[in-house]
Amino acid sequence: MSAAKGIAILGSTGSIGRSTLDVVARHPDRFQVVALTAGAQWQVLAEQCRQFRPRVAVLAEPTHAGELAAALASAGLATEVLAGPDGLVAAATLAGADVVMAAIVGAAGLAPTLAAARAGRRLLLANKEALVMSGRLLLDAVAASGAELLPIDSEHNAIFQCLPPHRPGVVAPAVTRIWLTASGGPFLRMAPSELHGVTPDQACAHPRWVMGRKISVDSATLMNKGLELIEAQLLFGVPSGGVEVVIHPESIVHSLVAYADGSTLAQLGNPDMRTPIAHALAWPERMPSGVESLDMLRLGTLRFEAPDRERFPCLRLAEAAARAGGTAATVLNAANEVAVASFLAGRLNFTAIAAVIERVLERLPAGTAAALEDVMEADGAARRLATTLVDGFGGRVS
Ligand code: NAD
Ligand code: MG
Repeated sequence: MSAAKGIAILGSTGSIGRSTLDVVARHPDRFQVVALTAGAQWQVLAEQCRQFRPRVAVLAEPTHAGELAAALASAGLATEVLAGPDGLVAAATLAGADVVMAAIVGAAGLAPTLAAARAGRRLLLANKEALVMSGRLLLDAVAASGAELLPIDSEHNAIFQCLPPHRPGVVAPAVTRIWLTASGGPFLRMAPSELHGVTPDQACAHPRWVMGRKISVDSATLMNKGLELIEAQLLFGVPSGGVEVVIHPESIVHSLVAYADGSTLAQLGNPDMRTPIAHALAWPERMPSGVESLDMLRLGTLRFEAPDRERFPCLRLAEAAARAGGTAATVLNAANEVAVASFLAGRLNFTAIAAVIERVLERLPAGTAAALEDVMEADGAARRLATTLVDGFGGRVS
């Protein structure tokens, strides 16, 4: 019998998915790919199947599932092709999927991520929206099943590395503050008057990281850091105000943890997601990721500065949602997903992203988030209202 662990990669055709396959391919003795999933990119998925020969391949968007099945059969593969949301859950809970990489973007990843948590797998969480929108519910599922939750977001993986062993959602003793670093995105120094007219391609041209388009826009508005602040509070059990955002344009220090004795621990590394991915795959061991370690003699200056909440109101909105609790983070996330998709489709100006989210938060006060139904209801209401606002303003909300 093989000693290799089975891994299911949800969102394998995306930026995190491809980085995960890059790391896994370096360690065929340790990992065997058992399931791969994609949204609609069936040709990329077919190519990945030819290389990694999983037992199951899933297309969330079913239109081309027949073509995928035909392509795999003609390549002589026995891979079973599934489609739609049920297929994603089947991949996340597949027998032999010891490790599940949750790397679907947005709320579409919630159901399979939650299913993997309930099934007690080692869950590598890149899909921050799933945690932000469902809050304690995902952590409760992890605690109830005994699943292992390891953060993939580079900042949260860094914080995890700087903390003593702890349970998800429970604060580590004597931690006084978590510093969440932010690159500041492509518009850090742009004049506020110019932000209005920036294009999707400008917003997606991140100075330090190569990522999917949704998270790239979130990085440009600083909503990514707002979502990460909520993510950190949940993962590490720190109260609102216990996490502080600091701009660090070089993206070398991936976050820091301050302790009561005056010590501050940091994790440093080149900005490459294969490092946190390899860390979470091998934990508590370590293994090569393909990323070079830092050359301290060539590093030069590392800068740290306060974020500008006037220029980047999304950070302020996320901080307010974190303080409000309940379904506020669900509403924030849903409104943001609609606004960002509208911006990427050329239907909304960049600065209107924050305006839409602010109006949705004003009109939908936070309710309790005791059950998944509460979360899905708040998510749906926020999406409808955000869509109406975008439509009503003819894409010119400002
Ligand atoms: P991406 O857009 O490159 O990839 C997303 C993946 O999800 C693709 O495989 C796509 O086919 C799939 N997908 C999209 N819509 C889907 C749907 N409706 N149903 C099922 N599958 C769908 O995104 P990414 O940059 O890899 O980010 C993935 C997640 O990881 C996001 O939540 C992001 O915030 C998080 N993350 C990414 C990075 C990064 O460096 N890219 C860093 C930290 C966290
Ligand atoms: Mg991050």
